Amino acid sequence: MMRIMPYRTVKHAGLTIEGLSLAGVQTYWRVPELKIGFDLGGCPWQFLSTPNWFISHTHLDHISMLPLLVGRRYFLGQTPPKIYLPHEAVRPVEIILAQYRRLDRGRYEAELIGVEPGDEIRIGRELIVEVVEVDHYPVGLGYIAWNIRRKLREEFQHLSQEEIRNLAVAGTEVSRELRRPQVAYLGDTSPRGLDRNPTMYEAQILIAEMTFLSEDDDDTLAILSKRRHMHLRHFIERRELFKNELIIASHISTRYHPKQAAAIVEQAIPDMLDGRLRLIM
Ligand SMILES: [Zn+2]
Ligand SMILES: [Zn+2]
Repeated sequence: MMRIMPYRTVKHAGLTIEGLSLAGVQTYWRVPELKIGFDLGGCPWQFLSTPNWFISHTHLDHISMLPLLVGRRYFLGQTPPKIYLPHEAVRPVEIILAQYRRLDRGRYEAELIGVEPGDEIRIGRELIVEVVEVDHYPVGLGYIAWNIRRKLREEFQHLSQEEIRNLAVAGTEVSRELRRPQVAYLGDTSPRGLDRNPTMYEAQILIAEMTFLSEDDDDTLAILSKRRHMHLRHFIERRELFKNELIIASHISTRYHPKQAAAIVEQAIPDMLDGRLRLIM
């Protein structure tokens, strides 16, 4: 199928990361296997099948296509999407959807769920999405998708299936929960967003932002003026902290041609963090 809105695809450890992010233009990601997506600053037709969305913040390049997702899912006969977003954004987004309803008499049905740092949202049996605070404005949220497994407790491992079942029926906790951070989505943030959430460094896959790249005056000024974004140098300073198997760096400023961006990063980090760092533009 023709890709009317482009996106890139990266496969790692049984998961597919699809999406694209360009600072100030568009940001949208999804992990089809987990049935979750992050941000709706764009919405390729293929992304309509994803039912659960997590919005990092309300800048236009991260939410502008939210109404399209909602309207088109209804048009295709799919269930209303669940859209998790900062609390303070729920009412404004409801009003926006109501206005779209007036404009095209379409049905814009979505479950809008306000979230705040510390919340944990269960998506199916094996997935919990944790909401964390990053450092952006007006409110910046990051999300960590935890893979959940239940493991039989040590003390019961010698028992037969039937004995275990009997214990469970009698109300004994026979298993314990094992959690593994599978995908972390940083959203837009200064490096504080990483540092205050060490799990970001531990997640199997990290989707990060890297808005500024060069040491020229404009980028230095942007960082000094406390623009809440990441610079290539923040990655270099933290290289020992990244334990991730895959680090996607995106949200690169449109000031750079993709070839130029790749050249700057490869020159600064020749080993691309042992081959784990991928630029997506
Ligand atoms: Zn942005
Ligand atoms: Zn932003």
